[in-house]
Amino acid sequence: MSGSHYDVIIIGTGAGGGTLAYHLAPSGKRILILERGDYVPREKANWDPQVVNVDAHYNTKESWLDKDGKELHPHTNYYVGGNTKFYGAALFRLRKQDFGELRHHGGISPAWPIRYEDLEPYYTRAETLYQVHGNRGEDPTEPRATSPYPWPAVSHEPRIQQLSDDFSRSGLKPFHVPVGVMLDEKNPTRSHCIRCNTCDGFPCLVGAKSDAQVVCVDEALKHSNVSLLTNALVKRLETDSSGREVRTVVVERERVLESYSADIVVVSCGAINSAALLLRSANDKHPRGLANASDVVGRHYMGHTNSVLMAISKCPNPTIFQKTLGVNDFYFGSEDFPHPMGHISFVGKLDAITLKAGAPAIAPNFTLELMAKHSLDFWLTSEDLPDPNNRVTLSRDGKIVLNYTPNNLEAHARLQGKLKQAMKQTNCAIHGHECHQGLFGRNLYVGQRIPLAGVAHQNGTIRFGHDPLTSALDVNCKAHDVDNLYVVDGSFFPSSAAVNPALTIMANALRVGDHILQRLRVSTASQNESDTEAVASR
Ligand SMILES: Cc1cc2nc3c(=O)[nH]c(=O)nc-3n(C[C@H](O)[C@H](O)[C@H](O)COP(=O)(O)OP(=O)(O)OC[C@H]3O[C@@H](n4cnc5c(N)ncnc54)[C@H](O)[C@@H]3O)c2cc1C
Ligand code: SF4
Repeated sequence: MSGSHYDVIIIGTGAGGGTLAYHLAPSGKRILILERGDYVPREKANWDPQVVNVDAHYNTKESWLDKDGKELHPHTNYYVGGNTKFYGAALFRLRKQDFGELRHHGGISPAWPIRYEDLEPYYTRAETLYQVHGNRGEDPTEPRATSPYPWPAVSHEPRIQQLSDDFSRSGLKPFHVPVGVMLDEKNPTRSHCIRCNTCDGFPCLVGAKSDAQVVCVDEALKHSNVSLLTNALVKRLETDSSGREVRTVVVERERVLESYSADIVVVSCGAINSAALLLRSANDKHPRGLANASDVVGRHYMGHTNSVLMAISKCPNPTIFQKTLGVNDFYFGSEDFPHPMGHISFVGKLDAITLKAGAPAIAPNFTLELMAKHSLDFWLTSEDLPDPNNRVTLSRDGKIVLNYTPNNLEAHARLQGKLKQAMKQTNCAIHGHECHQGLFGRNLYVGQRIPLAGVAHQNGTIRFGHDPLTSALDVNCKAHDVDNLYVVDGSFFPSSAAVNPALTIMANALRVGDHILQRLRVSTASQNESDTEAVASR
């Protein structure tokens, strides 16, 4: 097989690569997918908080370096489906304004080279493909959409409904978070998803999470023109003598080097690994790294400013599936702080085993077990701004070095303040305003490792744009400097916005997929029909 030539090679099977493979598969073109990981084994441990959260069993054991040369263990996952195997499946569109320039307290969030309207049809298709459950019109910042969500929102459990009512009474506009789980609440006996408490951060043991493996890669492989090599680590990309074309994809499998070639090569290894791969592929024609004449490859790394805040109440919180409520009232600012602050939603319900690893401050008169039973576990996201000095580089021996200094932190502090204020106004029937005991930060250092948020939302390292002097990719996510090289993971973001990134990566992969199909002279209309038919037939 080594030495074979393909029409398209896709490297990586996550939100970007998996979605692209799905979209290109019906074209009949010869497609090779290369994935460094294997399938996530299906085993009871998939849903064990000790194994998943405390032992970090499924995380890569690779180590990277921080800017001081200290080792760090990234909380990231190398499997078929990439990080979507473990994600919380909150599938948001960026806001329309996120595509323009926005002035933040900490600086400027730059404009994208495309408008929201350009991506809108692809958001709609991605929502259908990933079976997103949501209610249009509830979220005050939601951009215009051409069709409703394909599935009704996942309902709130009673404690979350009570909180939603409290928030509404205090003037906020809470909404149902759009999520990609295959839950059919009208037909519980037929529903794939069983609405369990081990979704966010865990692989789905019953294959009911809309992840890139289940939804896209498995479907793509039903086409005989598509093949997948697992445990296939792409080491470098080599160009022809002009430097304008990738000629060889060098892969390590079972410690043996193999090489493959294709008319089109698509990199989708996640924002950090994709930048590292291009930097590793430096040659005479590309001395700073492949496709890096602009010197932006690896720079402008973003990953959001995130925190988990546990609101402890006297009333217990027996919620099983907690990730149903969001608040975006402060996304663009407020009267007392006229700058974007970000997004409030939930993580999966925290349990005592996971809390022990995160060692939060203990609420007075509570044990960890009691805290876990009584907490509402909020997830707060603020935008971090693209700083050229926040970057991925390589050490002398080829290790990934991640240099990151957080910025725009006032926005996040203000967002936390807004949540504190909102929680003080909650009013339960038994304890009144005294029910809420305070907000407690959960230390994100699981097992004393890099903060989860440090790389979970990684983006920005191979930005797209019109100007080859300030971007590595053009608007079709093709490298300015290389004619047959594309990037479709989270690297292309010029700004990180403040909602979860995966749906935008998926939608963009479909958009770039249409461009690649045109380049391959395949009709995109028949392709889109076949996408819809495949989803409808499931
Ligand atoms: C615990 C957790 C919860 C999350 N929750 C959410 C959420 O609720 N909503 C949301 O929008 N986002 C969420 N995210 C983030 C989301 O998963 C990512 O934004 C998304 O998966 C990124 O897609 P990607 O294509 O850029 O990269 P990935 O999904 O990371 O895929 C990259 C793929 O490339 C492979 N690869 C890497 N290097 C190589 C190489 N050299 N050779 C071959 N293969 C390679 C990797 O193994 C992987 O399969 C979460 C992430 C985590 C970890
Ligand atoms: S069964 Fe449903 S809630 Fe549980 S992990 Fe799977 S998709 Fe998530």
